[in-house]
Amino acid sequence: MKIAVASGKGGTGKTTVATSLALSLAMGEPGQPVPPPPAFLDCDVEGPNAHLFLAPVFERRQDVAIQIPRVDAAKCTACGKCAEVCQYHAIAVLGKKTLVFSQLCHGCGSCTLVCPEGAISEEPHAIGVLEAGTAARGIPFARGVLDVGEPMATPAIRQLKKWAIPSSVRDGSVVLLDVSPGTSCPVVEAVRGADYLLLVTEPTPFGLHDLRLAAEVAAELGIPAGVIINRDGIGDAGVDAFCAAAGLPILLRIPFERAIAEGVAQGRTLVEIHPEYAPRFRVLYQQIAGQVKQHEGSRPAGA
Ligand code: SF4
Ligand code: SF4
Repeated sequence: MKIAVASGKGGTGKTTVATSLALSLAMGEPGQPVPPPPAFLDCDVEGPNAHLFLAPVFERRQDVAIQIPRVDAAKCTACGKCAEVCQYHAIAVLGKKTLVFSQLCHGCGSCTLVCPEGAISEEPHAIGVLEAGTAARGIPFARGVLDVGEPMATPAIRQLKKWAIPSSVRDGSVVLLDVSPGTSCPVVEAVRGADYLLLVTEPTPFGLHDLRLAAEVAAELGIPAGVIINRDGIGDAGVDAFCAAAGLPILLRIPFERAIAEGVAQGRTLVEIHPEYAPRFRVLYQQIAGQVKQHEGSRPAGA
């Protein structure tokens, strides 16, 4: 089962939740055989930070590249068809010259397909690196790291998921995806294909605003979702009211507490600061599993 942990905005404690959920599942129930640990993917390729909490040792690396067009001036007739098809304005015809702006190119390949002269070939353009290894409690850990100044997070996330997920889900184990903040394209790419979206928010008007947007993404993608309220006790009851009206279950409340804030700032996970949260996260996982099962059962046959 793939569980994406997201938040409409940064600084809500999303990584604190994702890493603590991973550790809690890896610990297993006291007195029971230790289960296979969940795999953890840090999909926040523009600012990955889960490694600070789970301390992985990286064993594999792979460059991430996109294919960008290269125009053969000898064949190009400056017809402009490539510029017309490019949604990102990454290729332009100026007079008799056709220019490619690699920083804007998404590597979609459309210009190559439409060029009537066969004047466009493609060459790899490195945008970052993927790394995989083993973290605390044997958790298989992978992350993508975008090169500084490189704006193409979406293809890096797509390649990270393709590279790291197949081997982890083969045995039906759990995959946790730590998603970047916001609700833009990189978030949608990370969440796509997930079985569940766990939304971390705080009970303030800003938290509510961003939670609404994140809940819309879940609804749009048809993914069941639930909410964790972090820093419970600050703000107002707006988030509670919204969740009740939208039918979003509130699965856990983490109080606003100085000891948690200080511990997290030192790179400690919530279950290290307060071990009593480990069984709570395991109960939360069972609730998620129940919701996913219910969702699958409610789908029309063949959907
Ligand atoms: S590959 Fe796609 S994004 Fe890049 S220049 Fe061609 S059409 Fe535009
Ligand atoms: S579509 Fe091909 S021939 Fe036309 S401007 Fe672009 S590169 Fe040149």
